[in-house]
Amino acid sequence: MLTLECPYCGVKAEETELQAGGEAHLKRYGPGASDEEFEGYLFMRKNPKGVHFERWRHAYGCGKWFLAARCTATLEVFGTYPAQSTQPPVDLQAKIKAKRPNWEGYK
Ligand SMILES: [Zn+2]
Repeated sequence: MLTLECPYCGVKAEETELQAGGEAHLKRYGPGASDEEFEGYLFMRKNPKGVHFERWRHAYGCGKWFLAARCTATLEVFGTYPAQSTQPPVDLQAKIKAKRPNWEGYK
């Protein structure tokens, strides 16, 4: 079972206490964006076998959204961090790179 530590309340929550929110760090497009940019924002998602950054909500806990880095193949969790982060923390990226030397890095 997937277990993620909520970065706000510190609880190690099991998957059944959480709500998945899809891919993290999506770039949002507003008025003036092209149709292709807006279509990409709405529909195009990464689906990697390996390191992935995701949104999760501690639904049956504090109720807050947070972000998590995990491996989709092994379910290994690299870490969680606040939802306000515009990109994964540098120390978390270094931790992932140490465990997955072939990881291309956050893009
Ligand atoms: Zn929480």
